[in-house]
Amino acid sequence: MPQPKYKRILLKLSGEALNGGDKNQVIDFNVLDEYAREIRRVYDVGVEIAIVIGGGNIFRGASVEKSGIDRVQGDHMGMLATVINGMAVQSALEKHGMYTRLMSAIKMEQVCEPLIRRRAIRHLEKKRIVIFGAGTGNPYFTTDTTASLRAIESEAEVVLKGTRVDGVYTADPEKDASAVKYAHLSFDEALAKNLKIMDLTAFALCKENNLPIIVFDMNKPGNLYNLVMGDDSVGTLVS
Ligand code: UDP
Repeated sequence: MPQPKYKRILLKLSGEALNGGDKNQVIDFNVLDEYAREIRRVYDVGVEIAIVIGGGNIFRGASVEKSGIDRVQGDHMGMLATVINGMAVQSALEKHGMYTRLMSAIKMEQVCEPLIRRRAIRHLEKKRIVIFGAGTGNPYFTTDTTASLRAIESEAEVVLKGTRVDGVYTADPEKDASAVKYAHLSFDEALAKNLKIMDLTAFALCKENNLPIIVFDMNKPGNLYNLVMGDDSVGTLVS
């Protein structure tokens, strides 16, 4: 069997990735199915997989402040949105024959397990995919911060941030044709160049704990597998 570079990974997917770029739908089940296929390839080589999924396709706390909804209330709504996405991801993975557990930082025991760190690690050791729902459980944070935090807590070796672009560029590649992709950046370089890879809290957690981040295009088939197998031409490594 081919040997993966990483034993345990944390995959971060944004909520918006799930709607397939169509703001009129919440979840594109074809996208979800594709993601499950990609994840299955990594699962099959024995990698322990933790997943943090965002909620931006359903609800973002900060976006409703103008409408008079209190920020904390909005953030709680956003965190619940991540549980809805987590349930969808869980179903897609199970459809493809993978064992999973959805754990929530906000208790909702009829729906999923409460987050207990030791239990999460045990699930990972037993090769169950752990989906961390409800963000950090606290308002004013993001699911990128959740990804850094849960990766550190569950001793993952890397955060794989799946996006629509294949790495970090000198400029926005969707707007500037001369933009060049970085293969590798240090945390300090990324900060000095003000490259918005993750929000500052998420980024600081990774830097302080020497947790590498790889930004990559999750929509390109084979990318996730190749980078887990050690192909450093995929994405941008920040370490
Ligand atoms: N959120 C929060 N605390 C957390 C994580 C998320 O309050 O620890 C809320 C926040 O309102 C955020 C929403 O959940 O806007 C959805 O998460 P995020 O915006 O990170 O999702 P993504 O952009 O990855 O889809």
